[in-house]
Amino acid sequence: MASYSVNNRVALISVDNPPVNALSHHVRQGIMDGLKKAREDSSVQAVVLCGSGRTFPAGADITEFASGLASKEPDLRLVCKTLDSFPKPVVAAIHGTALGGGLELCLSTHYRLALKSARVGFPEVHLGLLPGATGTQRLPRVTHLANAIDIIVSGRQVGATEAYDLGIIDEVFGGDMLPKALEFAQSIAGRPLAPRRVSSLPVKGREQASAIFEEARQKTMSRSVGGALAPITCIQAIQAAVEQPTFEKGLQREAELMQFLGESGQARAQQYAFFAERSVSKWQLPSGVSYKTAKPMPVKTAAVIGAGTMGIGISMALISSGIQVFLTEQNKEYLDRGVKTLRGLISSGVKRKRLTEVQAKGLMSLLTPVLDYKSFSHVDLVIEAVFENMELKKKIFRKLDSICNPSTILASNTSTLNIDEIASVTARPDKVVGMHFFSPAHVMRLLENIYGKKTSPETIATAMHVGQKIKKISVLVGNCHGFVGNRLMGPYQKEACFLLEEGCFPQEVDQVLKVFGFRMGIFETTDLAGLDIGYKIRKELGLVGGDGPERMRMRERYSPLADRLVEAGRLGQKNR
Ligand code: NAD
Repeated sequence: MASYSVNNRVALISVDNPPVNALSHHVRQGIMDGLKKAREDSSVQAVVLCGSGRTFPAGADITEFASGLASKEPDLRLVCKTLDSFPKPVVAAIHGTALGGGLELCLSTHYRLALKSARVGFPEVHLGLLPGATGTQRLPRVTHLANAIDIIVSGRQVGATEAYDLGIIDEVFGGDMLPKALEFAQSIAGRPLAPRRVSSLPVKGREQASAIFEEARQKTMSRSVGGALAPITCIQAIQAAVEQPTFEKGLQREAELMQFLGESGQARAQQYAFFAERSVSKWQLPSGVSYKTAKPMPVKTAAVIGAGTMGIGISMALISSGIQVFLTEQNKEYLDRGVKTLRGLISSGVKRKRLTEVQAKGLMSLLTPVLDYKSFSHVDLVIEAVFENMELKKKIFRKLDSICNPSTILASNTSTLNIDEIASVTARPDKVVGMHFFSPAHVMRLLENIYGKKTSPETIATAMHVGQKIKKISVLVGNCHGFVGNRLMGPYQKEACFLLEEGCFPQEVDQVLKVFGFRMGIFETTDLAGLDIGYKIRKELGLVGGDGPERMRMRERYSPLADRLVEAGRLGQKNR
């Protein structure tokens, strides 16, 4: 809903739809009702539109896309049109985030004020859509065409100060927003409104439009994964702002393109992924124990065992989020090699300007390389990332159990091994959990947390919480061979190898996968992760070597190609 009040001849319409003031049907109706009252009250000279609680309306109510409520009147386009043509000045007072539909509302008002900490943007492209409630037609009328294309096609969030520099926001304030917005609204009451209506402004930079669009198309095509429709369609919609004879005609074109995207499988898939990523934090066990009741333990210090591909990536992810890490290896040579790799990752961050020298130093100071487990006695969490071998992992967990504080959580980064079996060698199976990162662990966002039969709710909650803290999408999964990710990867990898046997080159298989939408092909991925990982897993399963026909295992077709490469010492990029 939206509340309505009048202060000193300024009407205040405040959206109140926690947690993010999404522009649901009842909110849109509330804004329209408020506008009607403000129009009819002759004492009102100006209107302020804001959000109560933590943010300005942060966007559309995405659940309404599927239910059809998004198009029920008053839809967002009608609200925008009403604001734009309103006979009294309307001021948007922005705090928090004004994204998507939230920014479209702002661009339909006559003045936009924002707190310094506020952010604006059009994230629709990430949902396979475009800003379809007038956003593609309004943004290039307040900022240069090239900026509008950049913001809409990238979906990035723009800070208030940058938005001010780009012309999207008229004034930026510090301190308390509302009194300033009310004062501002009084100061502009009575000023002519025609030059403030965005719909009547010319597109900025239209003289260079064809060169700008050509460059944007080239850039977008070269970056688009799997022929993504949304980025290129966003450009077409912005193009309508230049090419159509009127604002209304531009809106019609925007609506057609929005409908095209909305009905595409890509948009449905991207929205499915969006909701899936958000729902995984709301975990629940079959017993009913859930995220609502289980409390995580604080994790400030961790130990990582194994400074190989995964141990280094995991250490990098942990220190990047301020967690102090003790890193160990089987000997000094391997430990030094691991620390060198990690230092290399940090310096490449500096070279790419993602980190400053000071930040890089800060990260290295959080890492302590050690050659024994003494310092592990008081860490909050240990993550083991040694070779994929049950006996080795059991040996390490026995040792950890005898050294670590009883409250320390012991996690394994195993790709496939049974967490219960690993936990069985400790006196604290309730504190044992799988934390399965994906390679490269400091980059890949997925983290599978695996609970065993005895893993406690507190341990699960902690693993999930650590995942969130280090900016991963933590998914809680059950304990079975390969968990979820690798169970999906298994048949995929198998079929890819069959294609090689049937005459394809690895690069051809990868190319097809990339055209389909994967960022990397399967062979590039295994080359990066190390071919030995899959080999060790197949060995544990008894698939490598053995008697019988080479291309049959357990009465199923089998390709020994990957095994042969490993046996020839060819492990992929690890060999460099
Ligand atoms: P890796 O061979 O690159 O690294 C393993 C490291 O463990 C080596 O540096 C080795 O010297 C060290 N190590 C062995 N025994 C040790 C001991 N007793 N004490 C200390 N260090 C010891 O292997 P990786 O790819 O990093 O895989 C490690 C674990 O992560 C495995 O369980 C693997 O299944 C799992 N995993 C790997 C990937 C991947 O894509 N590489 C992805 C997810 C999970």
